[in-house]
Amino acid sequence: MTPMTPTATTVVAGVVGHPVRHSKSPILHNAAFQHLGLDWTYVAFEVAEDAGDRIVDAMRTFGLGGLSVTMPFKRPVAESADRVTEAVVRLGVANTLFWDGDEIVADSTDGDGFVLAHNEHFGSTLSGRSVAVIGAGGAARSIIEAAGRAGASDIAVVNRTPSSAGDAAELATVARVADPAAIGDCHVVVNATSVGMTGGPAPDLSPVDSSLLHRGQEVVDIVYQPALTPLLRLAESQGARTANGLGMLIQQAGLQIQRFTGLEPPLAAMSDALRAVV
Ligand code: NAD
Repeated sequence: MTPMTPTATTVVAGVVGHPVRHSKSPILHNAAFQHLGLDWTYVAFEVAEDAGDRIVDAMRTFGLGGLSVTMPFKRPVAESADRVTEAVVRLGVANTLFWDGDEIVADSTDGDGFVLAHNEHFGSTLSGRSVAVIGAGGAARSIIEAAGRAGASDIAVVNRTPSSAGDAAELATVARVADPAAIGDCHVVVNATSVGMTGGPAPDLSPVDSSLLHRGQEVVDIVYQPALTPLLRLAESQGARTANGLGMLIQQAGLQIQRFTGLEPPLAAMSDALRAVV
């Protein structure tokens, strides 16, 4: 499909962050707008690090159709939106700003994006299942909160800093701080750290020892560059089923498309566009 040339009536949406020039979001969102035949366009706004408390006002002033929000602005937009969703009340941060009538609402789609991607990839749900989440940063916290709502029976939070793990475990009633050994007893294992990511702090390492991985587990690395991370390589060699972070990236963007436009996201078109560039 040929992209529409923007005109005076084109609705502008975008991602705001610092830095943001590496973002894959324009590829995903523009593929969706094109597929839906909408006169919308999506760009990246790299704004000054101290501008966080002015982003909601800027969205209103410029009449933007919606914003994806990344570091370091996830907290300031949650604090300055007209309204926040339940997930944002719990997490204290948001990755999405959308309109509900005249109000700008802050939402978080990462955790639900993870759950949708898990369910789609494995053909199963988290209901009644034990989940190990490795990490306690922003992505881990979203996943713990959403896995709790999705009915996980137990969430083992494994992190090198116990105090952050404790804070993250407060996000779901079934979550608890756990030692790495607990990973071996979990149905679903999620790496939510940057360990194993190209260009990250430990690109060649797996955050989980191979002795804790086995057949019957579903192992997700939310890292997607490289596509086959050290953790996924180990998990495959131990007979576990695996998924990388591309599914989550697509699904969290799909939820944003839904919030921005009220339409069902064309996930296959979004996935095709993303897979052509990663
Ligand atoms: P963050 O900085 O908030 O958290 C990073 C986490 O990694 C922390 O828990 C930190 O303790 C842990 N960590 C870092 N280095 C470590 C090490 N050497 N050993 C053990 N733990 C270590 O970042 P975030 O936003 O939570 O993102 C984490 C990762 O998830 C990144 O690689 C990011 O690209 C990826 N991510 C993917 C998606 C997706 O849609 N697939 C969405 C969000 C984040």
